[in-house]
Amino acid sequence: MPLPITIAIDGFSGCGKSSLARTLAQKLGYRYVDTGAMYRAVTLYFIRHQVDLDDGMRIGEVLDQIEIDFERSSKKGDGSNITLLNGERVEKEIRGLEVSQLVSPVATISTVRRAMVAQQRRMGSEGAVVMDGRDIGTVVFPHADLKLFLVADLEVRAQRRLSELKERGQEANLADVMTNLQERDRIDSSRADSPLRKADDAIVIDNSKLSFEQLVERAMEEVNSIIA
Ligand code: C5P
Repeated sequence: MPLPITIAIDGFSGCGKSSLARTLAQKLGYRYVDTGAMYRAVTLYFIRHQVDLDDGMRIGEVLDQIEIDFERSSKKGDGSNITLLNGERVEKEIRGLEVSQLVSPVATISTVRRAMVAQQRRMGSEGAVVMDGRDIGTVVFPHADLKLFLVADLEVRAQRRLSELKERGQEANLADVMTNLQERDRIDSSRADSPLRKADDAIVIDNSKLSFEQLVERAMEEVNSIIA
């Protein structure tokens, strides 16, 4: 394994962070942690158990009952993770529009964030990790060895997200996907606790016009400049 560095990838919704993070982790033999999936799993739990987002007491109690983990997918062979919520595979459920529409409000809740950040720090404590999200380079690992911040045009992001959903056999249309991306960006950037922003020392990559191979190549240049 190359030098076990910590790589933080942040950016707006649908910029291609997860695909990049997964591929880098696979190339480097590192662990991949999709922190968005963790907030999504909490949101699914809240929906299923009808947890009121204004009920701080109940939220504190149920957070103790939620265990999130990842299992390596044996089917795809591309380093994909399957998200486990209390041992149940919930990958499909957490990607649907219902969870997508509630996840950003849930992610504004400080007790939720504290629980997720503690777990993320444990998962990355030994280095050799690629973690993607919104606050990885600013809050979770402010001393990460490499910080990338992805941006891309809204239209491009919405088209890509729509194709992903359709590939998974999920119903969706472009207008709804676009509205959801915009709304999540707005909430994520304006929340009081750990808002989405570029860390001062993050490298910006505009993924609007890059092919996936070009994106990986661009990121690997930065990785190699550190581990070489
Ligand atoms: O990465 P993904 O789009 O799956 O993330 C879903 C949502 O989870 C984001 O829109 C954001 O509200 C929240 N999130 C967060 N902090 C992270 C990762 C995700 O607030 N580190």
